[in-house]
Amino acid sequence: MRPVGIITDQRFLEHEYAGHPERPERLAAIIESLEAGGLLARMQPLSVRDVTDEELLRVHEPALVAAVRATAADGGGWLDADTYVNETSDKIAVMAAGAVVTALDAVISGEVGQAFAAVRPPGHHATPSTPMGFCLFNNVAVAAAAALAQGVERVAIVDWDVHHGNGTQEIFIDEPRVLYVSSHVSPFYPGTGHFSETGSGDAEGTTINIPLPSGSGDRAFADAYEQVVIPALRRFRPEIILVSSGWDAHVRDPLAPLALSTAGYSHIAGLVLDEAKVLCDGRVVASLEGGYDTHALAHCAANLCRLMLGDAAQPDPEDPPPEAEPDISGLLMSVREAVGLA
Ligand code: ZN
Repeated sequence: MRPVGIITDQRFLEHEYAGHPERPERLAAIIESLEAGGLLARMQPLSVRDVTDEELLRVHEPALVAAVRATAADGGGWLDADTYVNETSDKIAVMAAGAVVTALDAVISGEVGQAFAAVRPPGHHATPSTPMGFCLFNNVAVAAAAALAQGVERVAIVDWDVHHGNGTQEIFIDEPRVLYVSSHVSPFYPGTGHFSETGSGDAEGTTINIPLPSGSGDRAFADAYEQVVIPALRRFRPEIILVSSGWDAHVRDPLAPLALSTAGYSHIAGLVLDEAKVLCDGRVVASLEGGYDTHALAHCAANLCRLMLGDAAQPDPEDPPPEAEPDISGLLMSVREAVGLA
């Protein structure tokens, strides 16, 4: 079995604004959990490099990159009501995107079988022109574009963050070589991600949205992944799978109304990792997006790494008992019909 890669850097902790939920403690909790579980020592560390402007500009307009840099050079500020930049955030964001590209390259070259990029700031809300929703550069989209640039013909992005990855969707909406599948709560920030948004032109059916009602938990997610995400991956036959791994659909998350348990998150992660073995020699790069309860983040990240290492995931005994969930069978039928999977 090839080693499992881990890529992170102490400098990711320097992106911070006092009181903001997207805070350094999130990443610190994840790394501490990987160390305490004996997982970090079994993973292969990869070294972060800066993303190049050429790599960034495949998915972002020059004005976005310039705005992030200018705000940092001014000593920091707000790009929208949610999205801060401090005096070094531009350099840290360049490292975060570079880390995901490095993880991608290590998986494509076979140096590692899979990899987890524990990075900040997150990326999936950043559109071609607009940093937003705590995101400066779209790390996963930059990595997907890097894969295409080196000749990979089909890249799948699975986004299990509780928010719709509007930026990733917009970047690849008319790109048939990229499958974007998102499970997210709706209605909710950022307001996009209806199941009727399915891609345009040649890319029809390569954008797939599963907008879940509040209260959706382990049952709903298992159904959504078994009935939509996995069949979509089988149809698309990706050469590599990138995961926008936000853990804010967790029942403990303070910002969002879904009810996924630690075990439920591990279940969908296991489904995707197992399918990757069948479809693309196990090639998966997961990159940290959201998730604002540090306890849940630490457990879920450790379980993702356990699964990558071939261990069983461990449920969290501190998760609250499951509650009744909404019936999403009609929704899943609508999603399947919208993208031709019915
Ligand atoms: Zn999120």
